[in-house]
Amino acid sequence: MQPTQGKLHLGNLEGALRNWVKLQEEYDMFACIVDWHALTTMIERPEEITENSFGVAVDYLAAGLDPEKTVIFIQSQVKEHAELYLLFSMVTPLGWLERVPTFKEKRDSLTAGAEASHGLLGYPVLQAADILLYRPYGVPVGKDQVPHLELTREIARRFNYLYGDTLPEIANVLSDIPVMIGLDGRKMSKSYDNAIYIADSDDETAKKIMSAYTDPKKIRKDDPGHPEGCAVFSLHSVYNRENADNVEKECRAGARGCVSCKRECIESVITNLAPMRERRAELVKDPGQVFRVLEQGADRARAVAGETMADVRKSMGLL
Ligand code: ADP
Repeated sequence: MQPTQGKLHLGNLEGALRNWVKLQEEYDMFACIVDWHALTTMIERPEEITENSFGVAVDYLAAGLDPEKTVIFIQSQVKEHAELYLLFSMVTPLGWLERVPTFKEKRDSLTAGAEASHGLLGYPVLQAADILLYRPYGVPVGKDQVPHLELTREIARRFNYLYGDTLPEIANVLSDIPVMIGLDGRKMSKSYDNAIYIADSDDETAKKIMSAYTDPKKIRKDDPGHPEGCAVFSLHSVYNRENADNVEKECRAGARGCVSCKRECIESVITNLAPMRERRAELVKDPGQVFRVLEQGADRARAVAGETMADVRKSMGLL
């Protein structure tokens, strides 16, 4: 996750993080906070990134990542990421990067007059380095990341073709909720201002859900509704799973008003997030503990990354 903000939203949580917490029971996991990536859009205020990284680490721990099982670290603390990025940038054709849909999207969203940087274009190359340094089986992400993972596979294939079999073919590991809908019915994203955050208070959560987008055709309480595309129903289907079929039936039949539906939704979201929010509040009281986790994580990551770099240099015949 990139620390462009010091907090993660429910899309990050349900699309990726909750899956990591499950997977750590069975697999060796590396959870990187990619602060260099945040520079692609925060070049004027880099000093905010460190504080944000801390916030992301707090959310990781609050969500249940266990530093004994998962290596939690900040990208810039493991310089091997920069070295592999540089080597990959030599084997990656420019056309591959210009075709990445998020590049076009991000370039168009820059402040008027600002030119896209080399770093913004190279973003997926750095991401390939972040992943392949740990030679993983796969990467647990939300569906929006699938095109990037395809590029990681292409870079690994090209590297292996040029210098011999060194890097693995990674798998996409998707969660049960590959796309979480935001309060306005679009994909939940910090850039759309449509997100509920783990760090939000219960009151903020309630206010946001009360103002969420529902079915525009359902005006009166007894009008039949269309749950598909309704932001509140999508929250029900994640946080009120046992009752979601019932919510859907009642909504379609016009037997459920949006206001009471939202109230029930608020209740289930708040109850579900309560333990995480309590842990978060405890963790921010002891920043030293969080920084220690990150320091130890960086040491463990560096050891693995160093081995990969030794093999990469050897394959290429570099010193
Ligand atoms: P954002 O879109 O808010 O900038 P990031 O691009 O930093 O979020 O995403 C970090 C991780 O969270 C990725 O694995 C991504 O797939 C996942 N993710 C982000 N938004 C969603 C969403 N709405 N639904 C599912 N997964 C998501």
